[in-house]
Amino acid sequence: MTKIDIKSLSLSELEDSIKELGEPKFRAKQLYEWMHVKKARSYDEMTNISKSLKEKCIEHYDYTALQVVDVQKSKIDGTQKFLFGLSDGNVIESVFMRYKFGNSVCISSQVGCRMGCRFCASTIDGVVRNLGPSEMLDQIYAISRETGEKISRVVVMGSGEPLDNYDNLLKFIKLLTDENGMNMGQRNLTVSTCGIVPNIYRLADEELSINLALSLHASNNEKRKKLMPIAEKYSIDEVLDACRAYFDKTGRQLTFEYSLVSGVNDTDEDAAELSKLLEGINAVVNLIPVNPIKERDFKPTDRSGALAFKNKLEKSRINVTIRREMGRDIDGACGQLRRRHLQQEK
Ligand code: SAH
Repeated sequence: MTKIDIKSLSLSELEDSIKELGEPKFRAKQLYEWMHVKKARSYDEMTNISKSLKEKCIEHYDYTALQVVDVQKSKIDGTQKFLFGLSDGNVIESVFMRYKFGNSVCISSQVGCRMGCRFCASTIDGVVRNLGPSEMLDQIYAISRETGEKISRVVVMGSGEPLDNYDNLLKFIKLLTDENGMNMGQRNLTVSTCGIVPNIYRLADEELSINLALSLHASNNEKRKKLMPIAEKYSIDEVLDACRAYFDKTGRQLTFEYSLVSGVNDTDEDAAELSKLLEGINAVVNLIPVNPIKERDFKPTDRSGALAFKNKLEKSRINVTIRREMGRDIDGACGQLRRRHLQQEK
């Protein structure tokens, strides 16, 4: 029998489970606080929990904790990239970023990814497995412990497709924003998707106030299909309709991520087509010069090209930002650190 993953239980689920073990309900609250507020790495740290309850817990529950396998620190901007080992030996990466308005953590939602975006290192070997709610939380908890810094925002923009791991993502969101736990504001959480349309609608109906980012990367279906296989399944119109519905339901900020690839999606015609496509949508376009990976021959648009693209969009009154390059001196692109680690192991 597989054990229950204790850190993925809501407080009320844990209370029910603890009662079944013949323990009083308040013990659940104590355990929950050790896990989600004090971010304990194991039962050993839980000083007000009796030895006999700890033994019961070890017998009945799994307690996830990440091992720090590698940390890369940028000398330029304080970005830190963590390579974490999971209990089954898989590795994932997460990033700590310092911004003027506070610290942000970017987490992975799966080991690998099966979406196949052409420019992305995370997807080259496909998906290994989904991460559990506890394993998504653990990335934030571990980084908070390792850096000793307050984390005010979380973006689910690391390896994996969060809407391909929907149920665990939702539990993760509930736990992260629970007032009895880390109590992060939902508005400080952003989920990024390649555009799994039915799950965007589902998310819109959950009555959450998290931000949605859509990886658009092209202004027509032909080009998008060349960069993102998911575009074979859902057209741009379908994806944008889902995003509009998300905004209508939640009123939350929409972001369109657009990775600029030199000569592929960064021409004047691309900018004009994108302007037309996004007319009347309340959103921000985030331009990201593509981070080249050695497995693919994609080159980033240079600084002046990115600025020109931005100007074109702004002439059509679209809100545009160019993503500040974080950690340029470390393996910054999604999935690069993990890939390098796996290759060294081989
Ligand atoms: N699967 C989700 C979230 C993970 S990827 C999604 O597709 O949105 C996070 C963002 O980084 C996406 O916009 C993705 O397209 C982009 N990305 C991945 N690899 C990149 C690279 N090498 N250069 C620039 N952007 C990249």
